[in-house]
Amino acid sequence: METELDRLQETVIRCRKCPRLVAYLKEFKTHKPRRFRDWDYWARPLPSFGDPQGRVLIVGLAPAAHGGNRTGRMFTGDRSGEWLFGALHEFGFANRPNSSRRDDGFALTDCYITATIRCAPPGNKPLPEEIENCRPYFLKELDLLKNVNVIVPLGQIAFTQTLRSLRLKGYEIPAVSFGHGRSYVVRSPNPELKALSLIVTYHPSQQNTQTGRLTRPMFHQVFRKMRELGQGSTTNKAEGRRCRA
Ligand code: SF4
Repeated sequence: METELDRLQETVIRCRKCPRLVAYLKEFKTHKPRRFRDWDYWARPLPSFGDPQGRVLIVGLAPAAHGGNRTGRMFTGDRSGEWLFGALHEFGFANRPNSSRRDDGFALTDCYITATIRCAPPGNKPLPEEIENCRPYFLKELDLLKNVNVIVPLGQIAFTQTLRSLRLKGYEIPAVSFGHGRSYVVRSPNPELKALSLIVTYHPSQQNTQTGRLTRPMFHQVFRKMRELGQGSTTNKAEGRRCRA
């Protein structure tokens, strides 16, 4: 049966709110690199995916032009995805360590993946107004993903934008700073909004992984914490308190 979350993702796929991005994606239907010339690029906004009952929500920045924008599934077919899916599998959130196509049987358990914006931006750099255009989809997902108690934004931009979205949602955001391995708890005076743990990580981009800024042990440290915090409740932690990594 189609759920509200399914309908939201269908709306995302049809979205045309950002003219610059719509025009950019159109180019991929005809201009493809040689190595992907046999691919019929997805070249539309990407839906989020995963376990709708998941307790962990991972927030990427934007689809990669020749990764998710090609395959139709976030992080599938790019180097960041190799790191992300490998770690998800290692820690029991995914049924296999990689995904190369949209319908290849890859599935997530207890985890859902979304992004700050759903269309691949030129140079991987979305404009502020494009981030704002896309924000309502993320805010709606926060409403619909009822079991989420841990959010893991990948990289600084996703971290900043997640905080902004949580503030708009009614959470009180304590003084927090970006730093790999840090974690925070955010709360709202609204009793209907449960406390959420936030785990900070560098993005598994090639720029970070090839330079050693992010190593596998560092990345796995985040997933160990995800496991630990996802299974526990955040209700007993002090507001805004920083947890030990
Ligand atoms: S980035 Fe988001 S708001 Fe903009 S066109 Fe794509 S899906 Fe729509």
